[in-house]
Amino acid sequence: MICAVCVAHRSPLFFFDPALGRHAKINLPAGPSQGKHRRMAKLYFHYSTMNAGKSTALLQASHNYREGGMTTYLITAQLDNRAGHARIASRIGIAQAADTFAPGEDLFAKIAGQLANGPIACVFMDEAQFLTKAQVWQLARAVDDLNVPIMCYGLRVDFQGNLFPGSAALLAWADEMREVRTICHCGKKATMVVRKGPDGAVLSDGDQVQIGGNETYVSLCRRHWRTAVGVHQALIDGSPA
Ligand SMILES: [Zn+2]
Repeated sequence: MICAVCVAHRSPLFFFDPALGRHAKINLPAGPSQGKHRRMAKLYFHYSTMNAGKSTALLQASHNYREGGMTTYLITAQLDNRAGHARIASRIGIAQAADTFAPGEDLFAKIAGQLANGPIACVFMDEAQFLTKAQVWQLARAVDDLNVPIMCYGLRVDFQGNLFPGSAALLAWADEMREVRTICHCGKKATMVVRKGPDGAVLSDGDQVQIGGNETYVSLCRRHWRTAVGVHQALIDGSPA
């Protein structure tokens, strides 16, 4: 998508990047012909709590690349079956087919294999909290050695307030980080999430990842999260979790 300002730059290498909210240079695919216009790609981490619209933001950003004639590569966690196999779906009703990643999979090899079929303007990774530490390193290597930008979208903390492994690694190693925001019922920014059982009671125990259960998640500011989990004071006082 070449905007008016980019036309003023008189360079097709500039475009408005909606994921970044600013003008940016197009990352040309790796190849011998790109010469001095080659720009170093980056690893991005867009983090938030539940229900903030991460998937919506991802799909919109990918759409804008594609509208500009560029190819994007979408990947999501294999264990996410909310929208059926290999789809990234947003709560506002849009969805897109996507490849999937499994816990032991080599993502450097996966992305390199995809690049062998043609240039990719950007890789979009949803549910990035489920990446392993090794897989985040594989993504970093793909950015550095294959010069492909990778935008990861994921939850920062689980319902107990602990970092997810993939998010911890991305917070440590991403080149750029952005927060996808949503609000608590009080109007403050929500940064935490509580898991509620079928009876509506806040749960403090259980696996970090719960697939296919009847639980619901509610995003809260830290103060209201503390109130909500207050009956489980061990969480705050220092539980082994
Ligand atoms: Zn609040």
